[in-house]
Amino acid sequence: ASHSTVSITIVGASGDLAKKKIFPALFALFYDGHLPQHFTVCGYARSKMTDEELRLKISGNLTCRIDRSENCGDKMEEFLKRCFYHPGQYDSLENFAQLNEKLKGHEQGRIAHRLFYLSVPPNVFVDAAKCGSLAASSSTGWTRVIVEKPFGRDSESSAQLTSGLKQYLNEDQIYRIDHYLGKELVENLSVLRFSNLVFEPLWSRKYIRNVQIIFAEDFGTEGRGGYFDRYGIIRDIMQNHLLQIVALFAMEPPVSLDAEDVRNEKVKVVRSMRPLSIEDTAVGQYKGYSKDGVRFPGYTDDSTVPKNSITPTFAAAALFIDNARWDGVPFLMKAGKALQTRRTEIRVQFRHVPGNLFKRNLGTELDKATNELVIRVQPDEAIYLKINNKVPGLGMRLDRSTLDLLYADRYSKEIPDAYERLLLDAIAGERRLFIRSDELDAAWKIFTPLLKDLERKKTAPELYPYGSRGPVGAHYLAAKHNVKWGDV
Ligand code: NAP
Repeated sequence: ASHSTVSITIVGASGDLAKKKIFPALFALFYDGHLPQHFTVCGYARSKMTDEELRLKISGNLTCRIDRSENCGDKMEEFLKRCFYHPGQYDSLENFAQLNEKLKGHEQGRIAHRLFYLSVPPNVFVDAAKCGSLAASSSTGWTRVIVEKPFGRDSESSAQLTSGLKQYLNEDQIYRIDHYLGKELVENLSVLRFSNLVFEPLWSRKYIRNVQIIFAEDFGTEGRGGYFDRYGIIRDIMQNHLLQIVALFAMEPPVSLDAEDVRNEKVKVVRSMRPLSIEDTAVGQYKGYSKDGVRFPGYTDDSTVPKNSITPTFAAAALFIDNARWDGVPFLMKAGKALQTRRTEIRVQFRHVPGNLFKRNLGTELDKATNELVIRVQPDEAIYLKINNKVPGLGMRLDRSTLDLLYADRYSKEIPDAYERLLLDAIAGERRLFIRSDELDAAWKIFTPLLKDLERKKTAPELYPYGSRGPVGAHYLAAKHNVKWGDV
């Protein structure tokens, strides 16, 4: 409404995430007319900068939709005029009180809602939440705080962070962001499953042999290993992004799409998962590799990483859900850096057709002849189903074909970045795609024993060459559960 306004403060605005993701997402929302009529974006960080310097810094990363960029320049100008900067310390009530005054000036007596985005390292999360809440909360509208990962590094530190935040904020003010939940195909998982009769009845141990959730990056830490080394791939990717995908995939049908109904189901299924142990996992770390005279650096060649680091840059894990729907079905997760390809996908391998009439025509590769549903989250978003089909012509020969939904062919619209969807939801007060504290707690319970064990035993990761398919340990792990990775 025109008598209200939203002030969005990006705490840590001088940083990488702010520049690459948050400002561009806000601009994209503005460009598409999704932001309210009155809004202000304020950058806050310790660095000294003027409003103009901030605008210059962020303008290079703002882009217009490719399909209609006619008034791009004007829109950017308009947006940048609404962006301001306020320098301050993260633990200074006084500095946040000054920010409060500045915001008030822009809010011009309207009902003012305030959204804070904590895009700072985790050691200042609680300080910033405290000062923001005590000195810069809205006195007329809502105040919400988006918190970025990492949400701790194990059960204890995560619980500590949660209780730290809850000293100053209510749970319903805290928006824990997992940007994978903002991805188009992850959001589509529930649609695929719950609005298609051909899928939901198959969604159980009765028909599904195994589920694979695969995350691969084709680059390493490349000089930014300092943060990564303290966390490793299990904390950085598996405990949050991949587990969230499993939860959405495997949850029981929620009562409704309301945030609490969905999150209730997610937390239930996560609590039914068996905590992971070393036996259920394989870990790896990439090493240097030379090809055609080009040298690709190993993880420990990164100057920000200790030479003797045993932090995994690759991990595979077999997860089991001990409930009636999924009893005995392996959920295999795999995440790695510096691999051959870059992609995130979900692969669902179905069981064999009992007493298959076409056994003979399929040849010896019965295993490969089972149906497989692939949901490719990125890049080149797609959903495809592998089926057996008769090769046209005389005689009876079968082959594997795919029913294919390639987003780029089917939908001409550019897919919004995950941060756009999530920022818009936070402004609207829609919490469905954010992580509730009990979900987070349940997620850490699955990974904490494994992480502690790996650290206690100083488990050496299996080395794999930069740009390869990853360590063979992942294949042994899968074979132990009668699974073949679908992506190799
Ligand atoms: P960043 O660039 O390292 O930090 C953001 C800002 O925080 C910096 O510009 C700096 O601003 C301040 N800062 C840095 N180190 C600090 C310290 N030790 N104590 C106090 N302030 C410090 O981080 P980022 O990459 O933007 O990420 C922000 C948050 O998002 C982090 O929690 C990160 O884990 C998370 N995240 C990042 C990404 C990504 O792609 N980059 C993805 C997912 C999640 P001043 O010096 O000006 O105060």
